[in-house]
Amino acid sequence: MAKILIIEDNVQNMKLAAFLLNSAGHVVIQASHALGGIAIAQQHHPDLILMDIQLPDMDGLAATRILKSDPATRDIKIYALTAFAMKGDEEKIHAAGCDGYIAKPIRYQTFLSTVMSAISEVPAAQKGKSDPNEQP
Ligand code: MN
Repeated sequence: MAKILIIEDNVQNMKLAAFLLNSAGHVVIQASHALGGIAIAQQHHPDLILMDIQLPDMDGLAATRILKSDPATRDIKIYALTAFAMKGDEEKIHAAGCDGYIAKPIRYQTFLSTVMSAISEVPAAQKGKSDPNEQP
């Protein structure tokens, strides 16, 4: 189980992503704007942020740069949620500091398996004690 912040302004995408993550047993926090999402990230320090690229108040990559330049939030995994993942875009996404991306439209299996691998890369010290993957 992980604490996952979704920053996404599209209601349908948000509903689907939150439903899938809740069903998989994760705690989901939702934000529809970049600035609100950044504040939540600073306050709640989630294990993973799913960051939409096009947000009403700020580019998701700019928001990622802010979070990755802040010592308080730079260790949080950020995966971009993006409809455009061409070669150049992938480079931009990584240059902004994103740890990976998930292509939209959301496909259940790909979405969940990408989230699963993102979370499993979180250092053990940040995980809950009940984590079955943690070595004794
Ligand atoms: Mn959007």
